[in-house]
Amino acid sequence: MACSINDAQNDFPILNQQVNDERLAYLDNAATTQRPRQVLAALQHFYEHDNANVHRGVHTLAERATKDYEDARVKVQHFINAASADEIIFTKGCTDSLNMIAATYGEANVSAGDEIVISIMEHHSNLIPWQQLARRKHATLKYIGLNDQGQLDMEDARQKITDKTKIVAVTHASNVLGTVTPLKELAKLAHQHGAVIVGDGAQAVPHMPVDVQDLGVDFYAFSGHKMMSPMGIGVLYGKADRLRAMPLYQYGGEMISEVHRDHSTWADIPFKFEAGTQNVAGAVGLGAAVDYLQALGMANVQAKEQELVDYVLPRLTALPYVTVYGPQDPRQHTGVIAFNMANLHPHDVATALDMDGVAVRAGHHCAQPLMEKLGVTATARASFYFYNTWRDADQLIKAIKETKEFFDGGTF
Ligand code: PMP
Repeated sequence: MACSINDAQNDFPILNQQVNDERLAYLDNAATTQRPRQVLAALQHFYEHDNANVHRGVHTLAERATKDYEDARVKVQHFINAASADEIIFTKGCTDSLNMIAATYGEANVSAGDEIVISIMEHHSNLIPWQQLARRKHATLKYIGLNDQGQLDMEDARQKITDKTKIVAVTHASNVLGTVTPLKELAKLAHQHGAVIVGDGAQAVPHMPVDVQDLGVDFYAFSGHKMMSPMGIGVLYGKADRLRAMPLYQYGGEMISEVHRDHSTWADIPFKFEAGTQNVAGAVGLGAAVDYLQALGMANVQAKEQELVDYVLPRLTALPYVTVYGPQDPRQHTGVIAFNMANLHPHDVATALDMDGVAVRAGHHCAQPLMEKLGVTATARASFYFYNTWRDADQLIKAIKETKEFFDGGTF
């Protein structure tokens, strides 16, 4: 384990390399994070000692693999403070989790004339499943807007969420603006109107303490790879009574109680939503990542990212040729910072920064309706995690200044 959060970078072998003859400053953590030695070791240990299919064998390896898988479920349960491990369903990722709710709860509970409310800053994963459900059901999809600071407009939320609303689905933290939404307040509002609330926690769970019971959410989705685990593992949290009442998603092995020639009965939660062979190693990796984060302490993870944002955001906004989207106040900002440089296409910015060893993303960030609202087609995005350092932050600022020089000799 890292002796302190400030030297956590040493736990990540991939970060210790040069790209384009420069030291790597990896600032694309909103897209995916890197894996520490501890997670890599857990994966290697699993494959070297315990690998077998789960829940179906009585031999020793099958029992060990089943224990590893179910232990990971309990770790995730405690990490987000779910009331029971049965409320944790392993999925392929956040997108899979959100599609599952739309295809099961949504399909069963939304009818013609009903309303689904999301926000204008949703990632496409928490937008298209609801858009397509609304189209199939002849329901209406409504968007909560933003205030001029790029935060969710609660006044607008109070107008849009009505007794016609069946589902409110909102991100907990934006993957573009770096805004945290008042999910707890939204949950209360949704429940006052008899609607359920779905939280997209892809950019929240890895970065801040999350307590699903305190938030009062009915469903909550996130991805392992954004918190140092393998790709292809994610979580759908659901309140037990909601999950029990929910129709099935997929049929196959392991999700049944009994199968007869002309009818079948189903396993209890969580297994009824885990058809077929699961990503057991992925879950083991996620469990190891949870251990790592808990040893650091999520309050410390959040504080470290806050310190980095406190440092980098004012330095970015001070550059007259840089436009930063989202809250200008670092205290209202997660480690995700979207920006543009005057006259430059964000892809050119990202390519130029890469030449200086700085990895950032450029594009619409799977949030095209938000881009339209911001009046741009794309932005560059630097996104920090707790293992980033002030050196990474300085390298970003220096590379941005050099990019400006390179493109116009300093005249724009
Ligand atoms: N929601 C948000 C806010 C995200 O940032 C992402 C990933 N960029 C997703 C959902 C989808 O996650 P995944 O691609 O891992 O399924």
